[in-house]
Amino acid sequence: MNTSFHPTPRTLMGPGPSDVHPRVLGAMGKATIGHLDPEFQALMEEIKDLMRYTFRTSNALTLPLSAPGSAAMEASYANLLEPGDKAIVCINGVFGMRMAENVRRMSGELVTVEDEWGTQVDPEKLRAALIANPDAKVVGFVHAETSTGVCSDVKTLCALAKEHGCLSIVDSVTGLAGVELEVDQWQADVTYSGTQKCLSAPPGISLITFSQAAADRVKSRNTPVQSWFLDLSLLMAYWDGEGGGRTYHHTAPVNAMYGLHEALLMVKEQGLEASWAKHRTMHNALYENLSGLGLEFVVDASYRLPQLNLVKVPEGVDEAAVRQQLLKEFNLEIGAGLGAFAGKVWRIGLMGYAARQENVQLCTSALRACLPGR
Ligand code: PLP
Repeated sequence: MNTSFHPTPRTLMGPGPSDVHPRVLGAMGKATIGHLDPEFQALMEEIKDLMRYTFRTSNALTLPLSAPGSAAMEASYANLLEPGDKAIVCINGVFGMRMAENVRRMSGELVTVEDEWGTQVDPEKLRAALIANPDAKVVGFVHAETSTGVCSDVKTLCALAKEHGCLSIVDSVTGLAGVELEVDQWQADVTYSGTQKCLSAPPGISLITFSQAAADRVKSRNTPVQSWFLDLSLLMAYWDGEGGGRTYHHTAPVNAMYGLHEALLMVKEQGLEASWAKHRTMHNALYENLSGLGLEFVVDASYRLPQLNLVKVPEGVDEAAVRQQLLKEFNLEIGAGLGAFAGKVWRIGLMGYAARQENVQLCTSALRACLPGR
């Protein structure tokens, strides 16, 4: 017989989704109103304002998308690229690879700049690619590579793109609110993120912001954006109230937007700098505890993401069995390694509401219990 679903409450310390803050869940349980209701329209304006605060931007073209981070990645390339346009994509993990696939599928001309997994995007390699490809129009890279736990230097990479007349696309799905990101100061052109990492909200919504230069590129396209759903100019007719009312584009996930609003509000209440500092402090605590168990961190400390930690699986340990035991006995989820790191590492997230002292303690004692002799 079918019955209601009652998930076992877990502690989510994987690569996302991360623990959702109770305030966000509470907000999402409020009464659903119409997506064109004046009260909802007022909320939409607040969401855009709070997004500008969190991205540190005054970009007019700033809005959430009713779809997860992958849709924001696709929207970035779909709106900036026209068939035959050349794009340079920096790859140092899974999500850079996905960016490259987006360029291919949008009939763009792809140039890749590759770095070893577990290291940063190398600005010198990007510079060489820009010099070798003066006709490139776009540079894409991942700020916080969730597959490797590496933070790349957004400021330097965006400056290089600008110097060579390219627009930049920055994936900060895992970065936003976890590590420093200054969209305006660093001159990032298209930056996007997701709800399920350092914002402490459930998955399913993404956030995207376009600089004036990027917005102008979209306006001056010769061909329509290949995706109707992700066409920014159509989306803005719904998200931008200016110049005479909003028009229906799609039915926004109203309650998910309540959740996004509450999550962004909490970031503002706490303060963005405090949010960055919290992730750093919790990372330091985890590092100290796990080092005490003799576990090693993979990524160099100078570019390690505090919110996503790659920990080496000790010799002779079955990494999947440990994760299963953690889930079964401690209701604790951590992530497996991907690609080049499959079977060799665990990915331990400390993102948003999951970045708490009690989670650090739970993860430490649970791992100790699963790794006899430590
Ligand atoms: N980019 C990065 C860096 C990510 O970590 C993720 C998801 O983990 C995505 C893009 C895709 O986001 P989503 O799974 O919400 O579609």
